Amino acid sequence: MTLLVTGGAGFIGSNFIFYWLKHHPEDQVVCLDKLTYAGNLATLVPVMDHPSFRFVRGDICDRAAVKRLFEEEQPQAVINFAAESHVDRSIQAPEVFLQTNVLGTQVLLDACCAHGGVRFHQVSTDEVYGDLPLDRPDLLFTEESPLRPSSPYSASKAGADLLALAYFRTYGLPVTVSRCSNNYGPYQFPEKLIPRMIVRALAGKTLPVYGRGENVRDWLHVDDHCAALDAILQRGVAGEVYNIGGRSERTNLEIVGLICHRLDVPPEQVVHVADRKGHDKRYAIDSGKLSSQLGWQPQVSFDQGMDETINWYLDHRYWWEPLAEDV
Ligand code: NAD
Repeated sequence: MTLLVTGGAGFIGSNFIFYWLKHHPEDQVVCLDKLTYAGNLATLVPVMDHPSFRFVRGDICDRAAVKRLFEEEQPQAVINFAAESHVDRSIQAPEVFLQTNVLGTQVLLDACCAHGGVRFHQVSTDEVYGDLPLDRPDLLFTEESPLRPSSPYSASKAGADLLALAYFRTYGLPVTVSRCSNNYGPYQFPEKLIPRMIVRALAGKTLPVYGRGENVRDWLHVDDHCAALDAILQRGVAGEVYNIGGRSERTNLEIVGLICHRLDVPPEQVVHVADRKGHDKRYAIDSGKLSSQLGWQPQVSFDQGMDETINWYLDHRYWWEPLAEDV
């Protein structure tokens, strides 16, 4: 089949393209990416000449360009990673988040309808559920949890999820949605917590931690996310939502402490800064539905995955140095 991957020059999308070409050598993969500040063609160099891969620069909001691409490639499935993805940027300038994350998703859904009901998967986030209290470790987000997004980013992702599910109900489009916890791994843009702390630590800069650093995130290695998406694309039921999580909850301070320990950074380099507006306290995901119905389990332990990720950043300065000036 031909699989259209939008946002494939970003962190998770690029890892997904590597994964798919390796595990599905019979398929064609077409990547549509606008190459915003977060998209990086250097990431896709290893597959640029792959006979089953094509890169197209374009905006998912550009209806004419998306129509043209669908006519040229006739994809059998679309997986939508394209998004504005950084919460802090959404607090500073929300508009582009609504444009890309909601209206861009609508353009893709319309194209899928116009081409006879192309299979569509929306890559979403656990942040659509809002947050959980720190003193209730027993609580987890399930697919039935109410959507209570806190930031313009998560509100735009929730909007896109609901739109995609409405296209299933209204037009019978074969849509699935996945909501994943925080990812880490190679090729993550250095504005995000883990790579930011690594590259700042290596540059001898301070390591700024929001508030007391007690906010909890559930971390999942990007390869495990890709395997979950594979399971959903192959065996997921249309109209369903699947949570994806690692059951690896860590406070932000624990993450920074681990990086300091591994890179031999003195504790004085860690500084506490004013908290993020509306900062979600805790995310924790119950991915029991994905495990029991589609047989997915995370394979990468957090300690091993973090070790490999830190090593990757140590070995790939050429990749992140041009991106890390302002982080
Ligand atoms: P990223 O910011 O690294 O990459 C986003 C990619 O989308 C970039 O290549 C960018 O150029 C492209 N893009 C942006 N606007 C576009 C547009 N209008 N048209 C075409 N391409 C456009 O993001 P990521 O961390 O790889 O996240 C990918 C998806 O996964 C997002 O939808 C995000 O909401 C979701 N997600 C991310 C995480 C995480 O921890 N990073 C967790 C759960 C879900």
